[in-house]
Amino acid sequence: MDASGSTIAANLARIELTILEACRRSGRRREEVQLIAVSKGRSVEEILAALACGLHQLGENRIEELEAKRPLVEQCAAAPVWHMIGHVQSRKAARVAAAGILVHSVDSVRLAERLDRQGAELGQAVRVLLQVNVSGEASKQGLDAATPAEIQQLLSDLDRVVALPHLQIEGLMTMAPQVPDPELARPVFAGLREVRDLCQERYPHTRWDTLSMGMSADYAIAIEEGATCVRVGRALFEPIWEG
Ligand SMILES: *Cc1c(COP(=O)(O)O)cnc(C)c1O
Repeated sequence: MDASGSTIAANLARIELTILEACRRSGRRREEVQLIAVSKGRSVEEILAALACGLHQLGENRIEELEAKRPLVEQCAAAPVWHMIGHVQSRKAARVAAAGILVHSVDSVRLAERLDRQGAELGQAVRVLLQVNVSGEASKQGLDAATPAEIQQLLSDLDRVVALPHLQIEGLMTMAPQVPDPELARPVFAGLREVRDLCQERYPHTRWDTLSMGMSADYAIAIEEGATCVRVGRALFEPIWEG
């Protein structure tokens, strides 16, 4: 293994332990939590090293980068599972839909409608998570759900989104604010779970199983609050990363 391979292996061992401990504290099973290696900005070599360590879920945040790296990676390794986790500009909806991967970052009704149209053209439903802004930070993308009024608005927007026939909703995603202590992000993760419970009640025929939340700084807390997908970049790829 090259240098970055041994770094990733050591980081992964630590992350696995942290995930296991968070699962144990919250009475969950390890299999309930997927670890997505966030490979944005990482080279094909680093990605191959991560796959060689046994990772197989990869998250990218720009479609151009995903399209460029994907064939190079898949030439060399058993096909990993790719995820689109970054903001999708409307004009790129066609390319994102054509990638045939789970899109974590559907942050507006408009984008949902665009992806649905692309799904219709492709003859294949687009798998999505709806990105929700639970923290109320103005800088955060997502459907706003920080106040009771916003949650009411969200639910009425969802009346339209769940009815789109070429969209396969699988759950929700959020980004927590950057805070000095990850414990401060806990209410955001709990908030997403509560929104999920409301969605489940209102739309019982849609799947809401996936909760994509938690990054390098706070994935342990996110798991305690019910994350089924954590998206980890720096803690996995960087030699010394102290959250
Ligand atoms: C970059 C990114 C991550 C990973 O962040 P780290 O702090 O490096 O773990 C997770 N989710 C999204 C949407 C990102 O853009």
